[in-house]
Amino acid sequence: MTTQTFDIAIIGAGIAGASAAAELAKTHSVALLEREDFPGYHSTGRSAALFSEIYGNAAVRALSRASRDFFYAPPRGFAEHPLVRKRGALHIASAQQMRSLDDFAANADLASSIRRITREEALGACSILRPDYVAAAVIEDDAADVDVHALHQAYLRQFRNLGGTLMVDAQARGLSHRAGEWHIDTGAGIVRAPMIVNAAGAWADAVAKSAGTAPLFIQPCRRTAVLVELPPNVRGEGWPMVIDIDETFYMKPDAGLLLISPADETPTDPCDVQAEEIDVATAIDRIEHVTNLRIRRVRKRWAGLRSFAPDRSPVIGFDAVLPGFFWLAGQGGYGIQTAPAAARLAASLLRDGAVPDEIAGIYLSQLSPQRFGIGAAKRSGT
Ligand SMILES: Cc1cc2nc3c(=O)[nH]c(=O)nc-3n(C[C@H](O)[C@H](O)[C@H](O)COP(=O)(O)OP(=O)(O)OC[C@H]3O[C@@H](n4cnc5c(N)ncnc54)[C@H](O)[C@@H]3O)c2cc1C
Repeated sequence: MTTQTFDIAIIGAGIAGASAAAELAKTHSVALLEREDFPGYHSTGRSAALFSEIYGNAAVRALSRASRDFFYAPPRGFAEHPLVRKRGALHIASAQQMRSLDDFAANADLASSIRRITREEALGACSILRPDYVAAAVIEDDAADVDVHALHQAYLRQFRNLGGTLMVDAQARGLSHRAGEWHIDTGAGIVRAPMIVNAAGAWADAVAKSAGTAPLFIQPCRRTAVLVELPPNVRGEGWPMVIDIDETFYMKPDAGLLLISPADETPTDPCDVQAEEIDVATAIDRIEHVTNLRIRRVRKRWAGLRSFAPDRSPVIGFDAVLPGFFWLAGQGGYGIQTAPAAARLAASLLRDGAVPDEIAGIYLSQLSPQRFGIGAAKRSGT
């Protein structure tokens, strides 16, 4: 059995692990371990690919805003094509949902990113919306489509160009800490490193348990996406993404088709999750209720896991108990749009704790794994 030694070993090569690996490889020798045959098989390859500065709680929004410049002006040579394309996100309300829309529009932290538009403007922006359904709307003009594949591949390319080592088919099975180093058994060999990063997505708690620390109750939740055909005479490419103000559905044009979702959030054990018939039917039913579409053909359906910590903020920082054990998990439904800032933050904390200016305004205590009393209580046996 071979043994290889690195400064840092990262477990999981989705967008979280890949982006952190690309940052850390500038200064450290890094191994990136992925259990599957190729990186991006799980949540990263299954997203709706939206960048929205108003989505998620305050901690998420801060990370998204700190990621914005990277998406619009990535470092020279990072990616061959633009990473984002503006689409806009239209949040609609029925007459019964006016209160939700008013509360949303009154949130001071969202004010500079959204504007109220008239009902007629909303109907004009997306021609299939039913006039008797839409009562009011708010638009985020700057919301954008992300080329997730290009972003992920660009991070992996940067990582390799900087001398990083990607290992696929390399599941971190046993983790033990001996003489100041972590030993990770991958089945095919041992990887040794003084620091490890837990970027295992839905499996973050499982990895923590196998390393000997308490889980943080990061809950994977299933979300379903369905690609349906539009009638031949309907062209949707210029529509914004349309989101129900209470997030019970959304829809978004996607390469001549329409991506729809019932915005489900079903707690699930970590697994290679599949779309359930009931969720596909619910998506179709909700979209047919708010539009004049009759959906005849489904081209593709899938589901992915969005994994949330109890307070729905990401978990970025060193474990309270285990030496050199770093969490980069709990990205929920925002792991793509927050990845650039989250990766820079993680890299700076792992290096020397000096946080770069553009993310200095983010409250680290809201992201630290040490914010959870639950884990601490379990560890101390109280
Ligand atoms: C339907 C849907 C829509 C979404 N829409 C958006 C959106 O519009 N915008 C947005 O920002 N986010 C969105 N998200 C969320 C986003 O996809 C996730 O937050 C993000 O992909 C999480 O990335 P990750 O790297 O943490 O997880 P993953 O991509 O799941 O990567 C974790 C990796 O760790 C590996 N792993 C696990 N255990 C081990 C082990 N023991 N050893 C080695 N490897 C291991 C897994 O194989 C996996 O590849 C959406 C998600 C879904 C499902």
